[in-house]
Amino acid sequence: MSQSATVVATYSRRMSVQMPDGRFVDARIKGKQLKPVCGDLVSVQPIPNEDDWLITAIDERRNELTRPNSRGRTEVLAANVDLLMVVASVLPRADWFIVDRYLCAAEIMGVEGAVVFNKTDLAGADESVAAELGGYEAIGYATASSSVVTRAGIADVRGLIGDQTAIIVGQSGVGKSSIINALLGRELQKTSGVSGKTREGRHTTVNSVMLELPGGGRVIDSPGVRDYAPVLDSLAAVELGFREIHERGTDCQFHNCRHLQEPGCAVKAAVESGEIRQRRYESYRRCTRKIA
Ligand code: GDP
Ligand code: ZN
Repeated sequence: MSQSATVVATYSRRMSVQMPDGRFVDARIKGKQLKPVCGDLVSVQPIPNEDDWLITAIDERRNELTRPNSRGRTEVLAANVDLLMVVASVLPRADWFIVDRYLCAAEIMGVEGAVVFNKTDLAGADESVAAELGGYEAIGYATASSSVVTRAGIADVRGLIGDQTAIIVGQSGVGKSSIINALLGRELQKTSGVSGKTREGRHTTVNSVMLELPGGGRVIDSPGVRDYAPVLDSLAAVELGFREIHERGTDCQFHNCRHLQEPGCAVKAAVESGEIRQRRYESYRRCTRKIA
């Protein structure tokens, strides 16, 4: 009889899944069509006379984090995520355009976004940073500032996740792995893990894991998630991805207004009046230029 389980680690075509009673079991995948990823809810059946279970179906996903692979196909990195947490830092210096692109991707995925400013122990966390974070708060994104070194604000970062399933993204070197370790309270094995019971008896590389945080909540981590860079390939998606622009855009004279040159554009008026931040509008324009 089949049961429903959650995929918590993937090793190529082998998976670790968590059963409804909390137990973790190894699973294989039925056929070649199914491609489960971390976060997936799946149907599993016991394989007679084996310890392994068989994944027979994937439940419909609430959302997917995707990227194009080298063959131009869409690869799914994680599924059923609640929160996309974007990390920026003092060093490398925060690039707010990149933060905006990640938040845009979160909107398109249908996932809540949040912004963390890390490495506050280093000089350079000035008023301009506070203004940016305040700007994100004003349009409904939760923010936190943290230092993994002094531990200041780590509880706030923890609070952003709560009991949700999060992914942590951002430029290389901003402290994503360090934050995950701080949240876990232990060192994460960075790239490889050992699947104890693989029949071949060899070490296999973990593609992706769902890490349970002490006290609730989860973080899905993988090299692909850590290196994730959003692909924004349609104007409609970009417009949807800048929430305050999308919202004000309903007042434009033309329903298909791109908010660039069009007459009667409510977005441009809102930028001029200061209701929409100039810098966010510039990010929006830069994103649309990459498409055109
Ligand atoms: P990732 O590439 O985003 O995963 O970043 P890492 O977690 O690997 O961190 C990159 C570097 O920044 C490492 O040398 C960390 O020790 C350092 N680092 C991470 N967080 C902080 C912080 O809050 N303050 C300082 N000063 N250094 C940090
Ligand atoms: Zn407009």
